[in-house]
Amino acid sequence: MPKPHVFIAYTGGTIGMKQSPTGYIPVAGYLAQRMEAMPEFQRDEMPTYTIHEYDPLLDSANMTPVEWGKIAADVVAHYDEYDGFIIIHGTDTMAYTASALSFMLESLGKPVILTGSQIPLAEVRSDARENLITAMLLAGQFRIPEVCIYMNGRLLRGNRARKVSGMGFDAFASPNFPVLGQVGVQIEVNRSLLLPASPFPCRLQGVRPQIHLASLRLFPGISAELVRRVVAPPLQGLVLETYGAGNAPSDNIPLLDALAEANERGVIIVNCTQCLYGGVEMDDYATGHALKEAGVISGYDMTPEAAVAKLYYLLSRDWTAERVKRLMATELRGELTRKREV
Ligand code: ASP
Repeated sequence: MPKPHVFIAYTGGTIGMKQSPTGYIPVAGYLAQRMEAMPEFQRDEMPTYTIHEYDPLLDSANMTPVEWGKIAADVVAHYDEYDGFIIIHGTDTMAYTASALSFMLESLGKPVILTGSQIPLAEVRSDARENLITAMLLAGQFRIPEVCIYMNGRLLRGNRARKVSGMGFDAFASPNFPVLGQVGVQIEVNRSLLLPASPFPCRLQGVRPQIHLASLRLFPGISAELVRRVVAPPLQGLVLETYGAGNAPSDNIPLLDALAEANERGVIIVNCTQCLYGGVEMDDYATGHALKEAGVISGYDMTPEAAVAKLYYLLSRDWTAERVKRLMATELRGELTRKREV
């Protein structure tokens, strides 16, 4: 059996950073040098790897849909040459990139695993070594036809993941979907949860960075005027982060009118809950139903990160508003669960 070969797309993040007078910064070439110098990455049990380093390396706070496009295009361009793909990425916006890649990589049949670390690889207490080694084993030896995040012993579906800790090694959680794999003495992948592998060639579905999106978190006292300004042209899509089961201040008629008028103009407004667990049920409360009446569509239990990425993906397709709304509420890549059919 030939050794598995994994493609490592190195985009940046803490993992390869060095201390500078202004704090941690990514340094070109440094991660590859460190990995070469570490015997564990060269061992027989490890897959062979090829690193593709992006220029410039980014703190993931600087990631945009332009970079999502470059990463997705590189995976598709090298798809047939490798057994699996690792995306080394900062943790701050990793959940957005993982969600975006899950939509952009159509008919995926191989693992695409994002990983990073909370402490740089070069430091003594770094979590990077284990994250990288296990992500490489997962990408090289397992048939996981999904975009995933691997951090701290857990493999998560990428479009279900959220960054929940800025300090802990357990930076990510998957509140509304079970973990896909658990790593202890054994690497255990729960096959019954994985999406089916596509028999078709993987295809790139690009996103247009020019799509005008906003996400808006409701808070007590939010003004209708603020909402009206947010949804004004040229906005095309809005992720509205609401209370509880998808509720909003239904007594604030001007606010509901602003949303209804935006909906009439074709703005896609998606309701995601501010809660970490559970989803949107707009028929549970009158305060949720009011949003439905205004034309807001349910994001069910989708993460706000996945909703943003999905809006980019769907609004880049030149489809009608009706079609975008229908697909927004349809599970495309395992990103949502509809409890009740409507
Ligand atoms: N600010 C860093 C980034 O997202 C944090 C990390 O990598 O963990 O690039």
